[in-house]
Amino acid sequence: MVVNPDTASERMLAMQQRTEIFPARRITVLLVDDQVAMIEAVRRMLSTERDVDFHFCRNPIQAIKMANQIAPTVILQDLVMPEVDGLTLVRYFRANQATRDVPLIVLSVKEEAHIKAEAFTLGANDYMVKFPDRLEVIARIRYHSQGYINFLERNEAYERLTAAMKQEQTRAKEFAALSEMSDALQNCVSEPDTYVVIASAYQKLCAPCSGCISLFRQDTGRMNVVTTWGDMEVSLLDFQQQDCRAICQEVFHPSASEQPNYSCLHLSQASDGSSCCIPVKTQGETLGVISLRCQESLQLNKFVGMKEAAIFRVADHYALTLTNLRLRERLKIEAIHDPLTGVYNRRYMEESLEREILRAERHQTNVGLIMLDIDHFKRFNDTYGHDLGDTILRELAKSVRANLRAEDIVCRYGGEEFIVIIPDIELRDLLIRANHLCEEVRTSVQILHNSQTLSITISLGVASFPEHGNSAQEALRAADQALYQAKKGGRDRAVAASTPMI
Ligand code: GH3
Ligand code: MG
Ligand code: MG
Repeated sequence: MVVNPDTASERMLAMQQRTEIFPARRITVLLVDDQVAMIEAVRRMLSTERDVDFHFCRNPIQAIKMANQIAPTVILQDLVMPEVDGLTLVRYFRANQATRDVPLIVLSVKEEAHIKAEAFTLGANDYMVKFPDRLEVIARIRYHSQGYINFLERNEAYERLTAAMKQEQTRAKEFAALSEMSDALQNCVSEPDTYVVIASAYQKLCAPCSGCISLFRQDTGRMNVVTTWGDMEVSLLDFQQQDCRAICQEVFHPSASEQPNYSCLHLSQASDGSSCCIPVKTQGETLGVISLRCQESLQLNKFVGMKEAAIFRVADHYALTLTNLRLRERLKIEAIHDPLTGVYNRRYMEESLEREILRAERHQTNVGLIMLDIDHFKRFNDTYGHDLGDTILRELAKSVRANLRAEDIVCRYGGEEFIVIIPDIELRDLLIRANHLCEEVRTSVQILHNSQTLSITISLGVASFPEHGNSAQEALRAADQALYQAKKGGRDRAVAASTPMI
């Protein structure tokens, strides 16, 4: 016979893979017979077979118990025994979970066809008349055992396949939850928008768990609970980082069996559940922590432990989103503020003035404008240096801000010139406010320089929309002209724009 080498090597490989997946099983024979002669005969027959383990049981009442212990791959059974009818024992073997599918060969002196037929009807797989030939016994034992081993391996493979499919489904669900979360996070424009997205992702990943998000606040230096879901209970709405084991000791969650009712200090110590915390970190910086709680502590491993990778992926993704949102927010703030004084910049002033003018037109009200400029500022720079000049600008901005309402808009127009936009104000009141500012700056802005106290004065031009101009540009020009008049008139004063001649 010519052997195809490919086929032979493929078969070898398949066998090798099979033994890797399924460890080799030995043939295990259980003989149930009350006759010592029969037991001895079978033992002798099998003594040459190295891969066969032989067990016997003389008492049929003990047979089921023994079969459950040794897990035979084939059962040989006598029909005529003193305490139990052999056919009844066949029925018992078939009713017993552990021996339900084990091949059963009836060994009997009876040769009647109807007894053989009944044995087969009750579930026997084979029938041999005593005393059978050695070769035949070995061949039948091998044949039935191998069939049973194949059956067990098939079942095992099926179970593994089912488990793998289930795992695959879980992975697919996790993947769907993560990609849905990723899309939703991209649409978030503020931090509160993200809370519901993260809560929903964790609800999908570990369904019965409740949870909360706590974020670190730079201003207080503490963790602050920003949202909860499910029936999560927290003992502290804000806490120190040291109160959370996940942050300070990098402990994800304790083994449920070791500490079934464990909770971090900042979570309430419920007696019927266990919790875990997942740090929200980026580049070593802790932005917050996500806490999950499962009512039944032993379930925590089931819902959380098995999905650790996905749970951490959500937290990592969240850390990146928070970083991006905060960066965007910072850029937005920087884009409209003057870095030296912290007040709004010229670009923001122009947008705001247009907006306020439109609003004033809609509501038939006024927009007040004050343009102010430091008197002889160049001298301060020249005498005390540019740094001191910067300090003066910062102190002036602080003073102007402090003397206005929150809704008034203070902007640095350029150099040492500032513009204040005051919505909905009469010209008379606007002038009063400008004079007040002039006096406050003169008396309150004091800069200490080498044990010398320096003070400044400002000049202010006051104009109002629509009284002094029908557009932002016209109103600004009127305020500028009024400022020029204030300078010309001797500085340290406020001057209102003159009403244009119609
Ligand atoms: P006046 O009373 O007529 O306004 O006189 P002034 O000296 O204040 O006006 P001038 O326009 O001659 O000088 C303004 C100075 O402001 C010149 C410039 O160097 C200074 N300056 C502009 N921006 C800054 C800044 O950001 N920091 C500092 N230290 N100085 C600035
Ligand atoms: Mg000046
Ligand atoms: Mg100037």
